[in-house]
Amino acid sequence: MSHETGLRYTAGEALARLADGNARFVRGEARFPTVQKEVLAALAKGQQPYATILGCSDSRVPPELVFDAGFGELFIIRLAGNVLSPEVAGTMQYAGTHLKTPLFVVLGHEGCGAIHAALQAKFHGARDRSRIEELLQNILPALDAIDPEAPLDEQMHAAVEANVRWTLRRIRAMPEAQVREAEGIMKLVGAILSLSTGVVQFLDE
Ligand SMILES: [Zn+2]
Repeated sequence: MSHETGLRYTAGEALARLADGNARFVRGEARFPTVQKEVLAALAKGQQPYATILGCSDSRVPPELVFDAGFGELFIIRLAGNVLSPEVAGTMQYAGTHLKTPLFVVLGHEGCGAIHAALQAKFHGARDRSRIEELLQNILPALDAIDPEAPLDEQMHAAVEANVRWTLRRIRAMPEAQVREAEGIMKLVGAILSLSTGVVQFLDE
């Protein structure tokens, strides 16, 4: 396995690498079983990841594995429900300003417990521990268009995507993100991971 740090990818190339890696993962042909010492030594000098991923903490959605990516390739932020917070925004700003990753992905997933909890809170008045409720506050505005009469699996499907799109909108509300996207320095995309198949579907604008 050649070590590829130091290469600079465009956003489109970065997206293609993620899609190719996910295809290998789904086929059972993932190619990064170990990391060689030389790779670690090279990466110790600096990182140049080609994508920043905002994903969920769920144990079933590790980005390096689902994109078949190695050490030094992905800059990853994970927290329940892949929501935006000041700390997340700061981490993304670091990725954009200092690491200059050309691609930013908000990665939601089917069967997300945080989304389920938010639906329960919104439509059934469910209460949770205080800090969990604080977290859910970031998701609730995403659920305005969800039909409470629909079956729960349909609500979940729609809500997972709505939450990704809501997080994308909140990121795009930051002036810096608008400028970087308009200038083509950065591309921001949403994606949904299927737990049962491992397939990542990138969302249309
Ligand atoms: Zn989740």
